[in-house]
Amino acid sequence: MDKANLDWQNIGFGYIQTEERYVANYKNGAWDKGALTKDATVVLSECAGVLQYAQTIFEGLKAYTTKNGDVVTFRPDLNAKRLNDSARRMEMPVIPEEQFLEGVRQVVNGNRAYVPPFGSGATLYLRPYMFGSNPVIGVKPADEYQFRIFATPVGPYFKGGAKPITIRVCDYDRAAPNGTGHIKAGLNYAMSLHAIVEAHELGYDENMYLDAKTRTKVEETGGANFIFITKDNKVVTPKSSTILPSITRKSLLYVAKEYLGLEVEEREVDVEELKDFAECGLCGTAAVISPVGKIVNHGEEIVFPSGMDQMGKVTQKLYDTLTGIQMGEIEAPKGWIYVI
Ligand SMILES: *Cc1c(COP(=O)(O)O)cnc(C)c1O
Repeated sequence: MDKANLDWQNIGFGYIQTEERYVANYKNGAWDKGALTKDATVVLSECAGVLQYAQTIFEGLKAYTTKNGDVVTFRPDLNAKRLNDSARRMEMPVIPEEQFLEGVRQVVNGNRAYVPPFGSGATLYLRPYMFGSNPVIGVKPADEYQFRIFATPVGPYFKGGAKPITIRVCDYDRAAPNGTGHIKAGLNYAMSLHAIVEAHELGYDENMYLDAKTRTKVEETGGANFIFITKDNKVVTPKSSTILPSITRKSLLYVAKEYLGLEVEEREVDVEELKDFAECGLCGTAAVISPVGKIVNHGEEIVFPSGMDQMGKVTQKLYDTLTGIQMGEIEAPKGWIYVI
């Protein structure tokens, strides 16, 4: 199939409508078979559960072209499992993992023209999501749901190299103890919008959220987990039941241990400890790792030794190894690369 006529380097990270999307409906206790459609709109009752009580969850993953020309996705089985963890917490129906993967396969196949070529740095971002679709006015879960996956091409996250970002320690809370911080629900993003707009107005790129109970432990940002590198090259990541378990982070910890021979610690990270780390990064599907150069904690500036010009050395190694695995330049662990 001919590639779409897009300037892959400069498409940015926005919605570009593509040809096909996958839709499956849940009714009377069962999912239908699901199919592709060219209709990019959703028509709903004015009283749909998602519109009244925000019963919606989502995932994010990428399809891309590897060195040998395969079109692949990275660990989509983990997205399927995580979507179902989210569904259970939100009293929504789980979707069979095979159906999720079949939807991913169909959407990527239906939009092959939009899968960027190897080496462009661009990818085809896939957005699976599910929402309550029938009218709900008394507060309760919907009875009917729609599961959809659309695809939109996104440009290279870092054009001209990854520049370290500056973040602030945020006074708003992201997730309550025993709340919904560990699932990928739209509601977690809705309530983070005010905090991120405020952070941007004050000149920060991102918010660092602390645990809501004690406000002493590092959690995550609005949409990415933290990794820290100690001065003796250990990889440290916050352990908490209220952060979203990032697939990128899980993969990076494995790469650190098994490919780079680094020691890995998943443990509580006190905010007072930040000044002792050598490097800091944010991890998530979109950027893989964004380097953090500076954290501002109520006027106290912590500048990591890696500085404001480039990614830290260990962070860079982690980034290069994981992206090498994703792109087929380094042998992947079994099951990580799903060829479409
Ligand atoms: C999606 C998400 C992440 C990153 O997860 P990946 O699986 O690595 O993309 C981190 N934090 C939050 C709150 C998220 O929603």
